[in-house]
Amino acid sequence: MTLVVTGGQILSATSPRGEARDIVIDGDTIVDLVMPGSVRDDNAERLDASRRLIIPGLINSHTHSHGGLSKGIGDRWNLEILQTANPWMGGQRGPEDKYLSALITAIDQVEKGTTACYDLFFEFPVPTIDGMEAVASAYMEVGLRAVIAPMVADLTFYQSLPGFIDALTRIDGGKAGAMRMGRTEDVISALRRLAVQWSYPSDRLRLGIAPTIPHHCSREFMIGCRDVARDHGLVMQTHVGEAKYQAASSFQIFGRSMTRTMESVGILGPWFSAAHAVWLDDADMRLLAERGAQVAHNPGANMRLGSGIGAARDYLRHGVALGIGTDGCHCSDNQNMFEAMRAASFVSRVRGLPPQEWLSTHETFRLATEGSARVLGFQDLIGKIAKGYKADLVLLDLDHVNFMPLNNAVNQIVHAEDGCGVDKVLIGGRMVVSGGRALGVDKVALAAKADAAVERLHALNAEARKFSEIIEPIVVNFCHGLTDNTALAGLHRLLPSH
Ligand SMILES: [Zn+2]
Repeated sequence: MTLVVTGGQILSATSPRGEARDIVIDGDTIVDLVMPGSVRDDNAERLDASRRLIIPGLINSHTHSHGGLSKGIGDRWNLEILQTANPWMGGQRGPEDKYLSALITAIDQVEKGTTACYDLFFEFPVPTIDGMEAVASAYMEVGLRAVIAPMVADLTFYQSLPGFIDALTRIDGGKAGAMRMGRTEDVISALRRLAVQWSYPSDRLRLGIAPTIPHHCSREFMIGCRDVARDHGLVMQTHVGEAKYQAASSFQIFGRSMTRTMESVGILGPWFSAAHAVWLDDADMRLLAERGAQVAHNPGANMRLGSGIGAARDYLRHGVALGIGTDGCHCSDNQNMFEAMRAASFVSRVRGLPPQEWLSTHETFRLATEGSARVLGFQDLIGKIAKGYKADLVLLDLDHVNFMPLNNAVNQIVHAEDGCGVDKVLIGGRMVVSGGRALGVDKVALAAKADAAVERLHALNAEARKFSEIIEPIVVNFCHGLTDNTALAGLHRLLPSH
């Protein structure tokens, strides 16, 4: 079946107001870009895109679908407080809760112009087939493409730092120290089972593997994850150097940086991306570049959690491919890639660099499309409006006030658009959003289900919440103390001072 998107302006690097082209789509793929009105085929279906600016779908290179039910939880939280809250925020969930959380995350994304994401999804104590199917079915229902990477570890947050459990035992009677993740061999076998059973179309949903944070993974565990990924050709993503205490303690624990630690177990390669990568030095950046690894840059979440500012320009200078992400709703809090682009552009300007070193709007837009596509391993399918690429298109309303007047399309997309100008979204040529609303979704019923789930889960997790609130001050003090010691001398340069 041929579909022709007629009368629109396609975003272009050379023309500030876009270029008038009709887009010819066969099935789910763009087969031609032609002058307006030049397709004569009477049998072709037509979609009128007059007064619409057409961009490739945005691609979210780092999120967590389990965050969908936790939107707006927490205010003055850093990463340590978030990790302390994780057991009650995400505890006691059944398949329906996992589905709801993923559905909300998916709708949030498509309605704001995102057509694919990299989802690090968490289940405790081990990832299950049921849980993965719950998440995958939400994505299939909404139409979003995704890499779904179970976020796994064999050490708890409390086991991950030397002396942490001792510091907590004085007030919690050993409760934090008694917590355990799934056993190493159980988690690795669960990942292998998922890889064997995965049956979704590879251009829609792919399995990935996410050893969550190097500190939370034993060497044996990291090697197990690497082997499953290698045997099944899966992409991998890990949170690397998100918070300052992690960079500092890495030298204490491993005697080297987190990046070097992962290199020592053979995890770095073109299949690997580092999420955040705020507290990495030049040597780490060079190593990522040499191995062909990528970075998922999440400036919104980094600011929300007070983590620091990722050095996007430095990564690009080293030749590291960069994507942009929102991070999960529990730490960012919406799933708006227009905001993530704006944050990336803005934070690149406050690091003391001259204007020519700031991210331009063209660069920022490319990172959120082609760059993120590379992080997902989908770079041959999506991220561009070009012949042979999937028809993942966002139609922005040029009569929306965000584009009034249209002075410079890409500047306005990155610096003025906030998702409100999204009119239609097509994924693989299929319309999934019209009039700014996800199609086939009963929002009233969904909101009622989400509220009921949250009420039930809060009651079930009340005791765990009380516990995390008791230990929170010790956690904050302990992690802050780590950033103050001589281990930091091992880093060549630390943000935000460089
Ligand atoms: Zn994350």
